[in-house]
Amino acid sequence: MQTGTISVQTENIFPIIKKFLYSDHEIFLREMVSNAVDATTKLQVLAQRGEVKGEIGDTTIQIIAEPDEKRLIIRDRGIGMTEEEVIKYLNQIAFSSATEFLEKYKDSSIIGHFGLGFYSAFMVSEKVEVVTRSWKEGAKPVRWTCLGDPSYTIEDVEKDDRGTDVILYLDEENKAFADQYKVEELLEKYCRYLPVQIQFGTKTEYPEAPEGSDEKPEPIEIPNIINETRPVWKKQPLDLQDADYQAFYRQMFPMAPEPMFWIHLNIDYPFNLTGVLYFPKLGNAMEITRNKIHLYSNQVFVTDDVRDIVPEWLLLLHGVIDSPDIPLNVSRSYLQADGNVKKISEYITRKVADKLAELFKNDRPAFEQKWRDLGVFVKYGVISDKKFEEKAGALSLLENTAGEFSLLSEYLEKVKANQTDKHGKTVLIYTNDPEAQTAQIKAAQARGYDVLRLDTVIDNHWMQHLEYSGGNQQILFVRVDSDTADQLVQKDENRQSVLTEQEQTTVKSIFEKVIQGKAGATVQLSPLSPDDAPVTITRPEFMRRFREMQALQGGSGMFGDMPDSYNVVVNTNHPVVVNKLLKSEAPADQEHLSQYLLDLALLQHGLLRGEALNHFVQNSLSYVV
Ligand code: ADP
Repeated sequence: MQTGTISVQTENIFPIIKKFLYSDHEIFLREMVSNAVDATTKLQVLAQRGEVKGEIGDTTIQIIAEPDEKRLIIRDRGIGMTEEEVIKYLNQIAFSSATEFLEKYKDSSIIGHFGLGFYSAFMVSEKVEVVTRSWKEGAKPVRWTCLGDPSYTIEDVEKDDRGTDVILYLDEENKAFADQYKVEELLEKYCRYLPVQIQFGTKTEYPEAPEGSDEKPEPIEIPNIINETRPVWKKQPLDLQDADYQAFYRQMFPMAPEPMFWIHLNIDYPFNLTGVLYFPKLGNAMEITRNKIHLYSNQVFVTDDVRDIVPEWLLLLHGVIDSPDIPLNVSRSYLQADGNVKKISEYITRKVADKLAELFKNDRPAFEQKWRDLGVFVKYGVISDKKFEEKAGALSLLENTAGEFSLLSEYLEKVKANQTDKHGKTVLIYTNDPEAQTAQIKAAQARGYDVLRLDTVIDNHWMQHLEYSGGNQQILFVRVDSDTADQLVQKDENRQSVLTEQEQTTVKSIFEKVIQGKAGATVQLSPLSPDDAPVTITRPEFMRRFREMQALQGGSGMFGDMPDSYNVVVNTNHPVVVNKLLKSEAPADQEHLSQYLLDLALLQHGLLRGEALNHFVQNSLSYVV
């Protein structure tokens, strides 16, 4: 037996390891299993080169949990280590890289806490034994023991088999890591797609009874293999069917509805990246579904929090990206500035745009059908990413109230003649609630206007974006209830009222009396057509948007406390105003009639509620009884 001391340069790092990453202790298992995988892959490479004599046999990695002994064993049949290698790799290289790692990253949150390596075992163990035998002929098996302080022992040991057992004697605090369920959970999380077969105990299988027999076959014990060594994203797209992609999606997200389509990422240069990203059915939801893109590095799970690697709008996608070229041990804040990370974002963005273009080109009706589940994503991308906008912005669809879809360019062409205002801007009229705004939609349509349906969470931002960045195309969005139908598209028209100035002042004052005490209401006179409604409620576009933006930002700035404002627009050409209201002598009658007209308008716009609505109904009944 030989004892020694690991060369300690600074301070004893073992207490630091123990404290490090307190909440993330579990990553030790990933580090141990990754080492076993590496050792196995190295052996396979040697065998391929013909350097290993004889068969290499089964290379399944075994995980053995012994909760009663508080012991966890990671056993591989990889290359193993000679005594010299143990001293070199475990005592020198692994130790000093762990020290260096800890000194560098003590306080920072690096992705997935990658790189602590072999010494992460001491986060959970009071003693670690490595029993190993090198693949080299005649190698002497040894046992290395370390009690979580800088001293270690190496002694000769019996071991017939090639490979390495890492035996962790868990400390009291971490003994749960030898529990069946805990180990299973961690293997599922970190090792599910590792490239070398990993076995954790056995499981019982209940075979189907053979056809025509009612005799139940005996259950059988089979090895419990926890991983899939060639996951979908590592295969060639040509070798895969839709069903394979769908099955993989179900495996990753068992509760989620079927994805609409997906992209297979596969690039070697200038960086290496593979993966599959799925487009979920989003509907109107824009919740950034966290933890739905899983990051792997050579099939080792790193994290499901990829916020600093993938731009936020792409986080609406689900799936896997696997890249050894994403730097995992730099602090998160450095990641976004990293050249590779930038290129990776750009690559994904381009692939996403290409996929959308392909779908549109190959089957436009299907693309249109998917738009309601896709629109939010595309619009979010257009707003947040110039490159994406350049590539895919033109694929944004507009849907009108008749359910017809057009590209923006097609739509502008369609409405330009009738919907261009006096400033030369093409006015796009939209509703965010076709049901509530039926009256205004009808009024606009009566003027030959087309009304769009823009009712998703992102539409306000998207419209604003198009108005500002529309290039030469001057466009303006107005909500169908933002003005009276004749004023939605402001044209130079000679609009005249049949009323005299004096009469108009009277009408205005009658209505002003009625709205007294109604916060936010303003009376406005408008010489509309006699066929238009006598009273209309409008909510000016600019103010409304301003408030909506503010509400979205959670602020209550300058206008924050203002009540919701609206205009009561009185049609000074309507017969009821011209002939009835002005002709009635008694102020009580005038008040009654104007109140009734206002109530009708409020009712039509869904603004008559509660006591006011009740009062209106009672009043109306009194006319008919
Ligand atoms: P890394 O794996 O990043 O090199 P580690 O600290 O995890 O760093 O491991 C240090 C070294 O110890 C490895 O490079 C390898 O040479 C050796 N080693 C660790 N585990 C095993 C194993 N199961 N079989 C063979 N060698 C191993």
